[in-house]
Amino acid sequence: MKNSSSPTQIFTRFCCTLGPLRFAVDYDGVVADTNNMKREWIKEGQGLEVPAWRCDHTSCVPEILTEKQYQEMAEIVYGKDWSFKARPVPGAITGLFDLARIGAVYIVTARLPERLQWVREWLRRHALETVISRLISTEYPSRRSKKDICVENEFHLLIDDDRKWVDDFADLEIPVILFKYRLPQSEQRNVRVSLRTGTECLNSWRKVVNLVRKMGKRRCARLGNHTN
Ligand SMILES: [Mg+2]
Repeated sequence: MKNSSSPTQIFTRFCCTLGPLRFAVDYDGVVADTNNMKREWIKEGQGLEVPAWRCDHTSCVPEILTEKQYQEMAEIVYGKDWSFKARPVPGAITGLFDLARIGAVYIVTARLPERLQWVREWLRRHALETVISRLISTEYPSRRSKKDICVENEFHLLIDDDRKWVDDFADLEIPVILFKYRLPQSEQRNVRVSLRTGTECLNSWRKVVNLVRKMGKRRCARLGNHTN
């Protein structure tokens, strides 16, 4: 069934409180292009051609890899060497700076605690330390869902490439952007139809920033109306 409310509408409703906006941004597949590395690993190890946008956990397991194979891949891709070699998702660096001008940016990742240090160092090497307010793990100090983290921290938006987290937000009025870098137009239509209300599927950082800017403007206008 087609969605009736756009994320912009949900965002406006949810954001009619004063105070700075707070964005939760996933790391792997959104900021660092580790999905492309997973694509390479799958091609070399399994002989399969899989597009990078299908290399997040939910898209991969069990359709493409078993859980065991996925974890073997994660050991390599999320390890020190590959973590440092990861390129930024095209547009991500500029996009994060743009988001930080609109609100506070938090990286929320499901990486295991021992792999977080590589993320921290990667962000430092790409001069993003000043742009990121905090790095938050779903695994440390205790295991929590991204949904719980977003509620606890009063985030206004989640940007993530894994549908598992996106679908988890069904009963919340927090808009979610399912970020699928270079997802073809034809596939985008199929994904959108199956998304819950208030969720958008975007395939580039430029589109993410444009949507967030639009959300921010509507919020400003609405807050302005409230104070008049
Ligand atoms: Mg991810």
